[in-house]
Amino acid sequence: MNAVLKSAAGADRSTREWQAADAAHYLHPFTDFKALADKGSRVIAQAGNIYLWDSEGHRLLDAMSGLWCVNVGYGRKELIEAATRQLTDLPFYNSFFQTATKPAIELAELLSEVTPPQFKHVFFSGSGSEGNDTVVRMVRRYWDVLGQPERTVIISRHNAYHGSTMAGASLGGMSGMHAQGGLPIPGITHIGQPFWFELGQGTHSAPLAPDAERASRDDFGLKAAGWLEAKIIEVGADKVAAFIGEPVQGAGGVIVPPETYWPEIQRICDKYGILLVSDEVICGFGRTGHWFGCERFGFRPDLMTFAKGVTSGYIPLGGVMVGERIARVLIEQGGEFNHGYTYSGHPVACAVALENIRVIQREGLVEKVRDVLGPYLAEQFAALASHPLVGEVQTCGLMGAVQIVQDKATARSFDSNLEVGMLCRSHCFANGLIMRAVGDRMIIAPPLVITRDQIDDMMALIRRCLDLTLADVLRNGWI
Ligand SMILES: *Cc1c(COP(=O)(O)O)cnc(C)c1O
Repeated sequence: MNAVLKSAAGADRSTREWQAADAAHYLHPFTDFKALADKGSRVIAQAGNIYLWDSEGHRLLDAMSGLWCVNVGYGRKELIEAATRQLTDLPFYNSFFQTATKPAIELAELLSEVTPPQFKHVFFSGSGSEGNDTVVRMVRRYWDVLGQPERTVIISRHNAYHGSTMAGASLGGMSGMHAQGGLPIPGITHIGQPFWFELGQGTHSAPLAPDAERASRDDFGLKAAGWLEAKIIEVGADKVAAFIGEPVQGAGGVIVPPETYWPEIQRICDKYGILLVSDEVICGFGRTGHWFGCERFGFRPDLMTFAKGVTSGYIPLGGVMVGERIARVLIEQGGEFNHGYTYSGHPVACAVALENIRVIQREGLVEKVRDVLGPYLAEQFAALASHPLVGEVQTCGLMGAVQIVQDKATARSFDSNLEVGMLCRSHCFANGLIMRAVGDRMIIAPPLVITRDQIDDMMALIRRCLDLTLADVLRNGWI
């Protein structure tokens, strides 16, 4: 821990000076500006493999892969060289003027190979949020071309995260985001999330036996999927255009749905003929131990949004995989689609994505997560369940969640004002681990190149931070 920064990056100014300049000029995303200015931000200066170094030379194990994206790890020469080559040959050209660039064409081709068979076409954007804006435009366009323009309503879920543009935040189910900006935009409505721990287990006087818990989760999965059918009937089946969901809710807290959930969602979408959209911005490109989350959970989306892991975050890129059901209609009957972005198919971003996907293929990262790392992480997390603060653990591939509770036996949560999750997160930062807190749910999504030894190191840090949090809680008399 606390290895000294190997180069003099940032040594031209002290950390205090960087923080002052930051506070004076830089408004950070999803941040209380005043609170951060008072405290000063942590300045991240360098990275390699799964580690970051801050401007003070502290080493941090990045168990969040940046922001769910640096899947092949930091400092990959292949990606840096791919970007440099493309910057030299052709740093930018658009795809608006009946033109295209070679990396964009090649990436479209490769994406149609690695995605499920219904996908042969892609529409590029600059981010996941923009990708979901494209989804809204495209599903409404699809139904319009088919002569059903009244089919406009898109159903999503509470506590979903689909980005931060007006359409992305509207599709998302974050009440705090809706409150600031008069969202959602018209024609978007939400149902409950498949979060068994919070909504499904009821109040038990004692934890359920494993078989009873599994049955309870499976029943709840069908019930939560049933909320979609109820909403379709409430809205009117002939008004519903699509349903959108993340295979595993990421930013909402790594909420892994019961196994029964997605097959039942698929059945309902098929029954009413509505489009099914999988937001794969986090789950895509190996995170779940499958190329895409829909393959892990056994459903067949008509559209898939992707971003983050497509370039391992080295450069921004997003997009939407368009299933043949939609592509055929738009291509054969559609006329002009009045939508696109300056950076749709940006050649440098596409060149980096191409190389990133080749790294994933060459190193067998998807299979490694499925067969080795995912099962190992699951085992390690299961062992955390006996910790006095832990009410539930869940993993899916290389994503994990630890639900902190006040009372293990009844799964009662702490008063949210105590911010126990934030307390735990502070201990993580201070001990060289980046773990995120969603309320009192602690989550990780480490790079797919993490080793078993590094997972052991990470688990030791997680345990230490849970113990430190427990000590605080006991000292404060909160248990
Ligand atoms: C991060 C995220 C987005 C938004 O992507 P941006 O690149 O931040 O716009 C959309 N959907 C999901 C599931 C995400 O996790």
